[in-house]
Amino acid sequence: MSNPNLNNQDLLTRSLQSVWHPCTQMKQHETYPLIPISRGDGVWLVDAEGKRYLDAVSSWWVNLFGHNNPRIKDAIKQQLDTLEHVMLAGFTHEPVVELSEKLGKLTGLGHAFYASDGASATEIALKMSFHYWRNAGKANKTKFISLQNSYHGETLGALSVTDVAIFKDTYAPLLMQSAQMPSPDFRLAETGESEEAFALRCADVLEAYVSEHSHELAAFIIEPLVQCAAGMGMYHPVYLKRAREICTKYEVHLIADEIAVGFGRTGEMFACEWVQIKADFICLSKGITGGYLPLSAVLTTDKVYQAFYDDSTARGFLHSHSYTGNPLACSAALATLAIFEADNVIENNKAKSAQIVSKMVVLNDIPHMHLRHQGMIFAFDVTTKNAKFSRDCYSAALKQGLLLRPIGNTVYFMPPYTITDNEIDFMVNATLEAVKSTV
Ligand SMILES: *Cc1c(COP(=O)(O)O)cnc(C)c1O
Repeated sequence: MSNPNLNNQDLLTRSLQSVWHPCTQMKQHETYPLIPISRGDGVWLVDAEGKRYLDAVSSWWVNLFGHNNPRIKDAIKQQLDTLEHVMLAGFTHEPVVELSEKLGKLTGLGHAFYASDGASATEIALKMSFHYWRNAGKANKTKFISLQNSYHGETLGALSVTDVAIFKDTYAPLLMQSAQMPSPDFRLAETGESEEAFALRCADVLEAYVSEHSHELAAFIIEPLVQCAAGMGMYHPVYLKRAREICTKYEVHLIADEIAVGFGRTGEMFACEWVQIKADFICLSKGITGGYLPLSAVLTTDKVYQAFYDDSTARGFLHSHSYTGNPLACSAALATLAIFEADNVIENNKAKSAQIVSKMVVLNDIPHMHLRHQGMIFAFDVTTKNAKFSRDCYSAALKQGLLLRPIGNTVYFMPPYTITDNEIDFMVNATLEAVKSTV
């Protein structure tokens, strides 16, 4: 319960004195105040004074079925009465087994390895790929490639395959070398070039590089269909299909980082399903627990798994985290997967996606409006001379009770799937006002 005696301003001051907030230049909070959230309800976040904000970004893309969701809450409460945690080395428990079986069925991969956040999943996939090639007698295959403008997390290994200058450049001396392939993000195409032709052209460059370097390449890590952190950069699925063919042909692992796009965001359960490919590794996190508890997983092929299975301890994958396979987080994930099934979410989201797109036509009042969408991800880029556009637009939307978080000049919606008709109208209209007042 929130404490009614708690003074709002007091809490903000104490937070700034005691908490180091993520992805933030703390000094900017002298001008952009923190928002103290005291509870959540459906798509709404409610601050300490009762002001409501529609969470159009699903709290950094993690929330799928609304805040304060009774089904997920009940599952966690039940698990809490049974077993809160046990270490997963040498021990096992029902929630982790059941979740691994379900994720295995859904992805067509197996032997789920767990951690607590997306960046750790990236680390695990990179280390497993590298170690696989060692175990397979190909110790020269040590290098990784990724896409231009890619994002795979902030830890040193994940940052090495990330290509966002503001996050990466400062730490460059600490990072391993990796090469970036041209991004098939359609915004980068030549005028007049089709989305598919551009994707195929980028794939040709990928093939040229991979064919030349395959002897030293462990894996190609990719965000399937949408490069979310790059500002919802979307690309033609043929690129993904070609990437799979190229990686297979030249014996390089394909790592699908579905941390952001997994669990229905692109319109299918997993983005790889659009072209029916199976990666060698899939990284999952964010929506996996419906946004309730930190959890991530990496699943891989039997071939990879078998290369570690041996009498020698050192050939095993000796990576671990203290909270690996936490039962509470697994129970939240199981409840989330149960909602997908019970509510036929993937099918129903198709209608909802079309409905959101049709309601977004009011945004055509904004000059140079080109809406793009992929499943339940919606975005448009704003032409503006305002160098502070993303901050100003964020503030203007907040004033109206809408939580938007533009990435550069890209405004996007990635709302919880439970958003209603009226809430969609509110989200779109408040966005129109916010953008018009800040371009
Ligand atoms: C968010 C994200 C990550 C990192 O996940 P964290 O839980 O923030 O560490 C990795 N890859 C992609 C594609 C992401 O969107």
